[in-house]
Amino acid sequence: MRIVMLGAPGSGKGTQGEKLALHHGIPKTSTGDALRAAVKAGTPLGLKAKVAMDAGQLVADELVIGIARERLAAPDAAKGFILDGFPRNAAQAKTLDALLAELGQPGVSKVIHLLVDDEEIVHRLVARGALEGRSDDNEATVRSRIAVYQSETRPLLDYYQARGLLVTIPGVGDIDAIFSVMLAATEPTVPEAAEA
Ligand code: AMP
Repeated sequence: MRIVMLGAPGSGKGTQGEKLALHHGIPKTSTGDALRAAVKAGTPLGLKAKVAMDAGQLVADELVIGIARERLAAPDAAKGFILDGFPRNAAQAKTLDALLAELGQPGVSKVIHLLVDDEEIVHRLVARGALEGRSDDNEATVRSRIAVYQSETRPLLDYYQARGLLVTIPGVGDIDAIFSVMLAATEPTVPEAAEA
C-alpha cells in the first residue's frame, strides 16, 4: 500500500497519516518533519531549507527529493509507505513516479485528499503555533502556505484524479470518524493483496 496524503497545511495529513501507518504496519514519511529536524540539527540541508520554511514557501525540489529518495529506498518502505507532505508540486509528483519505477516498486496505490476550508485551516494552525511553538504557524506565514498550496499543490488533485487514484474526504469533525472513512477508502484491492 503506497499512499500519498494531500491537503492544505493543517488539514490533518500528519495525524491521519500516522494512524493509517500504524494500522497497516508501514512507515510514514513527512518531509516537513525531516526538514524541521535538519533545521534543528543545523545541518547544511537545514540551513538551506530554513529561509523558505520561515517564509511559508516551498523548499527547493532537489532538497526534498533527496529526502524522499533516501526514505523510500530504505528496506522498511519496500512493502509500502504513507507520504505526508510529498509530493507538493508537479515536478515532485513526476519524480515520485520515476523513483518508484527506479526502485522496482508498484506505483502510488491511493491519494487521500483531506478537504478543509481556508478559515478553518488558519484557525487550526494559529492554535497549533501557540501550543507547539512551530515558527511557521503564525498568521502571516500560514496565509503564504495556503497560497502556495493553492497554486503549487492543488493542481496535483487533477494529476491524481486523471489516474483514478484520488479519494477526497472531508477533514472536519471527529478524528476517529474521519479515520474510519479513510480506512474504508484504502482497503487493499485484490491485486495488491495478492502481491503481499
Ligand atoms: P509541513 O510540515 O508538511 O507543513 O512542511 C513545513 C514546511 O516544510 C513547508 O511549508 C515547506 O517550506 C517545507 N516542505 C515540506 N515538504 C516539502 C516539499 N515536499 N516540498 C517543498 N517544501 C516542503
